[in-house]
Amino acid sequence: MRLRPIALAAAALLLPSLVAAEAGKAHVHGAGRIDAAVEGGRIELTLTAPKHDLVGFERAPRDAAEQAHLVAARQAVLDHAALWRFNAGAGCVAETPVLLEGGTSAAGHDHDHGHDHDHGHQHADWTVRYRFQCASPEALRSIDTALFTVFPSLQTIDVQLIDGGGARALQLTSASVRLSVTP
Ligand SMILES: [Zn+2]
Repeated sequence: MRLRPIALAAAALLLPSLVAAEAGKAHVHGAGRIDAAVEGGRIELTLTAPKHDLVGFERAPRDAAEQAHLVAARQAVLDHAALWRFNAGAGCVAETPVLLEGGTSAAGHDHDHGHDHDHGHQHADWTVRYRFQCASPEALRSIDTALFTVFPSLQTIDVQLIDGGGARALQLTSASVRLSVTP
């Protein structure tokens, strides 16, 4: 988001982003986040990332090719077997993941300041909830993600993890794709 040298416009643009940042929900392209909970053999991973990174665009598809791209992205983000690996021995199996759409935030919709910006510009996230059940939870040690391979536009994922070791914040990148977990 770029600030413009018009005080009113800048205030109108800045306020929503501050509110979003305070809620831990800033929309930054390349940056996703995951809330992860491991308890008693249940694993719940909630991924939120910009559609920019998961789909390639955040507006409605404009033609058949973009529509097809959107469908493919939806399948890719729901392909838990391709995206998540657990250490062998934990025996973790997936429940059907759920794509929760609708995370849209309008940007720059103040039309009264005389600046000719893109009125149709919106940002949007996708949130996907993955759930797994592990047959041998005491054997669970690691969760690996292929998100950075499947969606190379993603650069970082901030993780809030709660497991047997307590709560902590971690960051995943393409060079660090493993969450070490304490059952
Ligand atoms: Zn965006």
